[in-house]
Amino acid sequence: MRLYNKVTLITGASRGIGKAIALTFAKEGSDIIAGCAKSKSAAQKVVSEITKLGRKAIVIQADVANKDEVFKAVGEATEEFGKIDILVNNAGITVRKDILEASREDWEKILGVNLLGTYHCIQAVAPYMIKQKYGKIINLSSVASIGNTIGGQVVYAPSKAAVNILTKKLAYELGPYNINVNAIAPGLIRTEMVSVGRNEEELKQIFEKKAKITALRRIGAPQDIANVALFLASDESSFITGQVIVVDGGRSDFLSHSV
Ligand code: NAP
Repeated sequence: MRLYNKVTLITGASRGIGKAIALTFAKEGSDIIAGCAKSKSAAQKVVSEITKLGRKAIVIQADVANKDEVFKAVGEATEEFGKIDILVNNAGITVRKDILEASREDWEKILGVNLLGTYHCIQAVAPYMIKQKYGKIINLSSVASIGNTIGGQVVYAPSKAAVNILTKKLAYELGPYNINVNAIAPGLIRTEMVSVGRNEEELKQIFEKKAKITALRRIGAPQDIANVALFLASDESSFITGQVIVVDGGRSDFLSHSV
C-alpha cells in the first residue's frame, strides 16, 4: 500500500475528481477527511464507501472561500485524526462567461474558491505539516491556465494560473520542511462541472471535438487524475516539487506549451 497509515484531507470530495481521489487514496491505505461545501449527503456516501474499505473517514463541511470555516474544520479534523499528511486542494468552480459578460462578482466568487480557497486550506494545514516535517500538497489547476481552451473561461483560467504560481512559491517556502507542493492541470474530464447546464447533445459535441484534437483520441475520466494524484502523494515522487503536471491526453491545442 502506497499511502498506508497516512491521513489525507481532500476538498470537494463529494463527487467528480475529488471523489475518485478519495477512493483511490483509501484503497492505498490512507484515512480520509472528505471536504464539501453543500453536498453533505453525497460526501457522506463517499465516506461510507471508504469505511467499507477498512479505513477511517469523516466529512467536514466548510466553504473553502471562508477562512474561519476552513480553520475551524481543519482544527476539528486534526483533533480527530492527530495529523494531516496529505492535502488535496480539489474544490473548484467555474463560470462560463466571456469578457463582456463577466462581472466583478464573478471574479470575486471564482477567485474566492479557486485561489483563496486553496490558500486558506494550505495556511490551515501547513503548521501541522511543518511540525511533523512531512507533507504533500496537491493543487488542482487546469489546462485552461496555460493557453487557449474552450471559450468562456476569462475568469476561470486566470484563477488557475494563479494557483500554478502559488504552487511554485509555496514549494520554495515549504521545501525546507520536507513538504512537496505540486499541481495537476487536467484537460477535459467528464464530471458535473462540465455537464451542468448542458444537454446530452451539447456534451456529445464537446467531447467529440476535444477527442479529435487529443493525441490519445479521448477525453479524461476522474480516475486519470486520481492516478497522478496518487503518485504525487506517494513517496515515489519525493524529489518532485513546484511542478504543474499536465494530464490531458496530449491536447494538440496545448502541445506547444509548457508550464
Ligand atoms: P465538480 O464535479 O463540480 O466537483 C466540485 C467539488 O468541489 C464538489 O465536491 C463541491 O462540493 C466542491 N466545492 C465547490 N465549491 C466549494 C466551496 N466553496 N467550498 C468547498 N467545496 C466546494 O468538479 P470537478 O470537475 O470534479 O473538478 C475538481 C477540480 O478539478 C476543480 O478544481 C476543477 O477546477 C478542476 N478541473 C476540472 C476539469 C474538468 O474537466 N472536470 C478540468 C480541469 C480542472 P459541494 O457540492 O458540496 O459544494
